[in-house]
Amino acid sequence: MRASARPWTNSANGSALLSGAMHELSVTESLLQVVLRHAGAGGAVRVVSVSVRIGALSDLVNEWMQRYFDYLSRGTIAEGARIRIERIPVTFRCDACGDHFPADPRSRETIRCPRCASEAMTLATGRECFVEGIEVV
Ligand SMILES: [Zn+2]
Repeated sequence: MRASARPWTNSANGSALLSGAMHELSVTESLLQVVLRHAGAGGAVRVVSVSVRIGALSDLVNEWMQRYFDYLSRGTIAEGARIRIERIPVTFRCDACGDHFPADPRSRETIRCPRCASEAMTLATGRECFVEGIEVV
């Protein structure tokens, strides 16, 4: 069984993603709540794995998320579940022509639209945090 994709945290506020370990703990706690809610609703006995997608601009560290998840999920049906993290690359959308292209945000100052050379662009992907699916038995 796979649950539907669903955001588990509001990633609109980019500054919140820079606050370090406490942030990871709270995000992982929210993640666990989403997982337990979906697994419980589906009558699951045990959660085997959780697939999450995280934008490349998010500073969530994979290893910590698994560690926090292991800690927080003790005694729940999600205990022992593996967190599978897929990183979403950073892409921009050109404000002038609408072209959609990948770019390294560290070179933001020098990024130009590859199609029309405009410097006006909006971050399109790279800050996401959502549960893509959970595998249960
Ligand atoms: Zn353009």
